[in-house]
Amino acid sequence: MFGLAPIGIGSGGSEGLISYLIRLSKAHCISPRLLLSTEFLPRMSEVNSGRHAMFYMDYAKTLHSTGKFANKFVTMTEELTGRDGLALLTALPWQEIIPAIGTGLMAQHPKWCSACLADYRNHHTPAYFKLSWGYALYQVCSVHHQHLVDECPWCGKHQPFIPVHASLGRCNYCYGWLGTCDKEPSNIHDPYQLWVAGAIEDMIIHSKDAMQKVTGELFREKLMKLTIALASNKKKRFSEMLGFTPSTMASWITKQQKPLFPQFLYLCHQLGEMPSELLMEDFDPYKIDIHFKSHAQKLHCISPKIGLQEPPKHEIYERLQAICNDTDDCRPLADIITELALTRKYLLYWFKKECEVISSKHKQWINRTALQKKKAQLQEVRNITWHLYEQGLYPSNRQVAKQLLPLKLCFAKMHLRTTHRNTLKELGLT
Ligand SMILES: [Zn+2]
Ligand SMILES: [Zn+2]
Repeated sequence: MFGLAPIGIGSGGSEGLISYLIRLSKAHCISPRLLLSTEFLPRMSEVNSGRHAMFYMDYAKTLHSTGKFANKFVTMTEELTGRDGLALLTALPWQEIIPAIGTGLMAQHPKWCSACLADYRNHHTPAYFKLSWGYALYQVCSVHHQHLVDECPWCGKHQPFIPVHASLGRCNYCYGWLGTCDKEPSNIHDPYQLWVAGAIEDMIIHSKDAMQKVTGELFREKLMKLTIALASNKKKRFSEMLGFTPSTMASWITKQQKPLFPQFLYLCHQLGEMPSELLMEDFDPYKIDIHFKSHAQKLHCISPKIGLQEPPKHEIYERLQAICNDTDDCRPLADIITELALTRKYLLYWFKKECEVISSKHKQWINRTALQKKKAQLQEVRNITWHLYEQGLYPSNRQVAKQLLPLKLCFAKMHLRTTHRNTLKELGLT
């Protein structure tokens, strides 16, 4: 495929991977869905041909995040275009500290700044969607200071991540121009919203550095330094000083869990540092001043789950392995989902293989028990027939059926009728 150059790499307005793929399909004069269905999805063992619709509905929104779909799509796009460094079009450079799924990372629908789209048109530059727009918390355009929108101004519909037409900036349903502002845009002066937009752009600008430098270890090292400098090495106190639940620092430093994305931004905000400053610059922890910031409270509103962590994947994996290896455990997947208190979607996303083993084990068990039941029923018919014969009675259809009735069996079932007939033959009665 053409080695199309991504737009705005290295700047805060860098293009997102999905936008790149849509422009790539436009360059080849085909629909983005056709491009993905023919060139990308067949290479993915996770998405068989029957599940393309599910991919467009569900998984496509994770292409900008740090999950397996993002990884796979970056690799495939690089192979197909011969261009490298496409991970910069996603959150992957920060994957060491950003969880692959979780509250408040990626938006549920594509959103955009109408004024940015209008600008592209006025300046006759190609329309594209910025990577920053894909982040759920990026709600205000840092250039135009106005709210992003996620509904078509003409028909009011949310847009799919992978549209049918390769026309960025046009509605997938009514083909209306999405850059149209029907009312006077209101200028946002909310310093917190603008700070968040700036922090996300900071991460995008420093993606290249982050890819080489940012590790979980570095994050923990910085946190430890700060805990020593600001809270005399008391993790609990440091968590509370920042407004987190008391165990937060311990879960990050000792248990080595990743922060949720809103938590991470909140941390940076409380410390008064941009993400790249916190992680990649040498700052003096003793000079950091944690003081009350009125706007920080809002982050709690955006993400009520601050303090919660993603489920411990390793433990889930071990539990699932144990269930898979236990030949006596043939429960349906639904029971296991309930036991683990997780969602079906989560389990299928992370532990597809184990889920398949569990489902097929259950299916085999159902087949096995059905077979055993059938055998037992046949035996009943034979026994009754023989018994009647031994009593000197003729084991007629009617007589046998009468005795089968209390067992909730009847001759409507073909296999019972055949067995009865065969038994009569054995007895020399036909
Ligand atoms: Zn804008
Ligand atoms: Zn529309």
